[in-house]
Amino acid sequence: MTPDPRDDGPVSGQDWDRAVELISAADEVALACHVSPDGDALGSTLAVGLALRAAGKRVTASFGDRSFHVPRLLRFLPGQDLLTDPAHYPAVPEVMVTFDVPTVERLGTLAGNAVRARELIVLDHHPSNTGFGTLNLIDPAAAATAVLAEELIRRLDLPIDGAIATCLYVGLVTDTGSFRHSSTTPRAHAMAARLVACGLDPEQIARELWDRSPFGYLKVLGAALERVRLEPEVGGGLVWTFVTRADRAAHGLPYDEVEGIIDVVRRTDEADVAAILKEDDEGAWQVSTRSKGGVDVSRVCAELGGGGHAKAAGFTSHLPVEETIASLRALL
Ligand code: AMP
Ligand code: MN
Ligand code: MN
Repeated sequence: MTPDPRDDGPVSGQDWDRAVELISAADEVALACHVSPDGDALGSTLAVGLALRAAGKRVTASFGDRSFHVPRLLRFLPGQDLLTDPAHYPAVPEVMVTFDVPTVERLGTLAGNAVRARELIVLDHHPSNTGFGTLNLIDPAAAATAVLAEELIRRLDLPIDGAIATCLYVGLVTDTGSFRHSSTTPRAHAMAARLVACGLDPEQIARELWDRSPFGYLKVLGAALERVRLEPEVGGGLVWTFVTRADRAAHGLPYDEVEGIIDVVRRTDEADVAAILKEDDEGAWQVSTRSKGGVDVSRVCAELGGGGHAKAAGFTSHLPVEETIASLRALL
């Protein structure tokens, strides 16, 4: 086979062809992203879902959170009506496609559906991806899974309208931190240019993603900053804080509204690593970590049962705050 000129990633033309073949032949395609979806996970899923539905396919899309709801921040994404509760997801999907999911565990309650699927196509950019699909389209050099989602839509020869472009763009801008992270390559900017040309509103998207929140967010942010700690002697410096369920309850703030606090904490000059412990509605601590590059936090978080990228990773802890931080500190 002659090499495809569009082939600028490590995914082979043959694997792309196989994905196109499988999806084209299926009557129904089941899509899924990781639990507690972020902009890249849900944006990529909805983009492909919208493109396939416009082409006349039956599409189911979901994610396996125990309490299924779309984070408020992502409710402006087009294609929400594609989403179904994981309880109504096909038990044995004919073809299932996962987005931004590095391990089968990150599918949550949909892990079993993925294991039973006749064909499982894995689209991802996590270097740690375990290759749990029957077909794995993994490009660790891609800035976002949305890069692979766009490529899939183009290879399926489906049009990208303003709604699909919006979903892809949200994946790209959230995973590059609005073109600030090291993943901001010429390829990422070229994709943004293509998407903006498809007709989307960058100003509205930016406002939805970064420039609005309920008033309670300011109060909870205040509480988190009040108790922030700097430990300059740990690794290249560690700055950390936590947000409890009680903090959020006092101000009526849902769990997914506290995601942005890490971006305030991580600006600390004196620390290479930043961490925030967020108590979820079940009482577990969801820990987000960020590194400026001195430490590979994906390795640290993997040791603690989680994962992610070298500069942005996380894990879940069922221990109290001090013990959780002690376990993190010990690895830094
Ligand atoms: P976050 O801190 O939630 O923005 O997540 C940053 C990165 O860490 C993402 O790539 C996530 O997929 C990964 N990550 C966060 N929490 C976990 C977890 N509990 N287990 C595995 N990976 C996680
Ligand atoms: Mn993600
Ligand atoms: Mn991603």
